[in-house]
Amino acid sequence: MSAENPNIYRRDTDILRRGEGLPVTPRDLYADNHSLEADRRREAWNRHKADGNLTVVWSCGDARVIIPNPETTVSIRSIATGSPSDAYPYTRLMESPGVKNIIILPHFDGETVKPGEEPTGCGGLGEKKVQETKSSKEVSEGNSVVRYVKQRVKSSDVLLQACISATITNENTSKNVLAAAQDHRDGTIIPIAAFSDRGRRTISAINLRHLFQGQYDPKIIYQDGIPSLSEDEIPEEFRAYLTLHRKNLEELYKVEPDLVQLQKTQNPTIMALSTDPRPFEVRFPALTASPNTLFKLSVPRTRIDSRISIDDQSLNDALDQTEYPVAHFSNLNTIYIETGDFDRSKRVADQLILNEWVHDWINEPSHQIIAAQTRDGIVSRISTIY
Ligand SMILES: [Zn+2]
Repeated sequence: MSAENPNIYRRDTDILRRGEGLPVTPRDLYADNHSLEADRRREAWNRHKADGNLTVVWSCGDARVIIPNPETTVSIRSIATGSPSDAYPYTRLMESPGVKNIIILPHFDGETVKPGEEPTGCGGLGEKKVQETKSSKEVSEGNSVVRYVKQRVKSSDVLLQACISATITNENTSKNVLAAAQDHRDGTIIPIAAFSDRGRRTISAINLRHLFQGQYDPKIIYQDGIPSLSEDEIPEEFRAYLTLHRKNLEELYKVEPDLVQLQKTQNPTIMALSTDPRPFEVRFPALTASPNTLFKLSVPRTRIDSRISIDDQSLNDALDQTEYPVAHFSNLNTIYIETGDFDRSKRVADQLILNEWVHDWINEPSHQIIAAQTRDGIVSRISTIY
């Protein structure tokens, strides 16, 4: 463990109170966010931002996703890396001078990798697969995760989803984009294709015709397992980042030798909705000391006139996604909502609770919604509001 690369994984805390079976408290979260370790990580993140050295990682909200190199990462989370097609709310964030490049990172379960078959393991991609077997009319357009997946997730195939999202992102920004996939069982990241110069230059481990031009055939794409760019094919600007992640994983295995088994199923106790681009690992070191604890969804901020705000479509997309964790995870006892303004966080909670899945959930004993105000990654106000 060096000063440059301190081990971010520790097991010296039980902030989640698993031993007591109680939910996390606002006081615990506040203390974690104001700890010396959180200060150190925020300072490191701010330094990388000032140096223009941050990588945007767009991944699924799944609690098992292991965010690579949190101190140099801007984290965007959405179910199955779904992205709006008619508006692109993250362009301003991606174009900001602190950001160097972008990785689109959906995930799969390494145990499902078989020659000639597409791997599975992401619940959102699984829902897309179900929808692809039905006619469009059969898939109800109500307000829920079904609507979100139908409109925002492009494909049920993890590589196709990565490459389509990477292409759209590259068309919408001047930054270079890597399409990759994470095996959430062991944290490995597999680089698949790189897109640069707004799509004019691409390098890919698969013939993109097989993905994009109606010639998709898992028997060809996965004939030798998951296709991967070789080390010298990976654009140099991404290489050091991926190497550092591999080193961090080695540290994680030392703390969690049973990682592959622990990552088999997800059942987080917390779901978080956040407008903060810093990963939770930077701002809540104790809470995130081991993976598979938090389901996270990003809410994009937009500039309306000169004010930073949340547009209705982006908020509805985020709220619709909450149905998935609330409906699926029996251990979920806390919904945590943070924006730059405490009253706005409260209003998001008020809107969230109108949805029937949250309305029923909050009536269970020991279930709670916590709202917070966070600016520059620092929580200044936090309390339980439901
Ligand atoms: Zn997923």
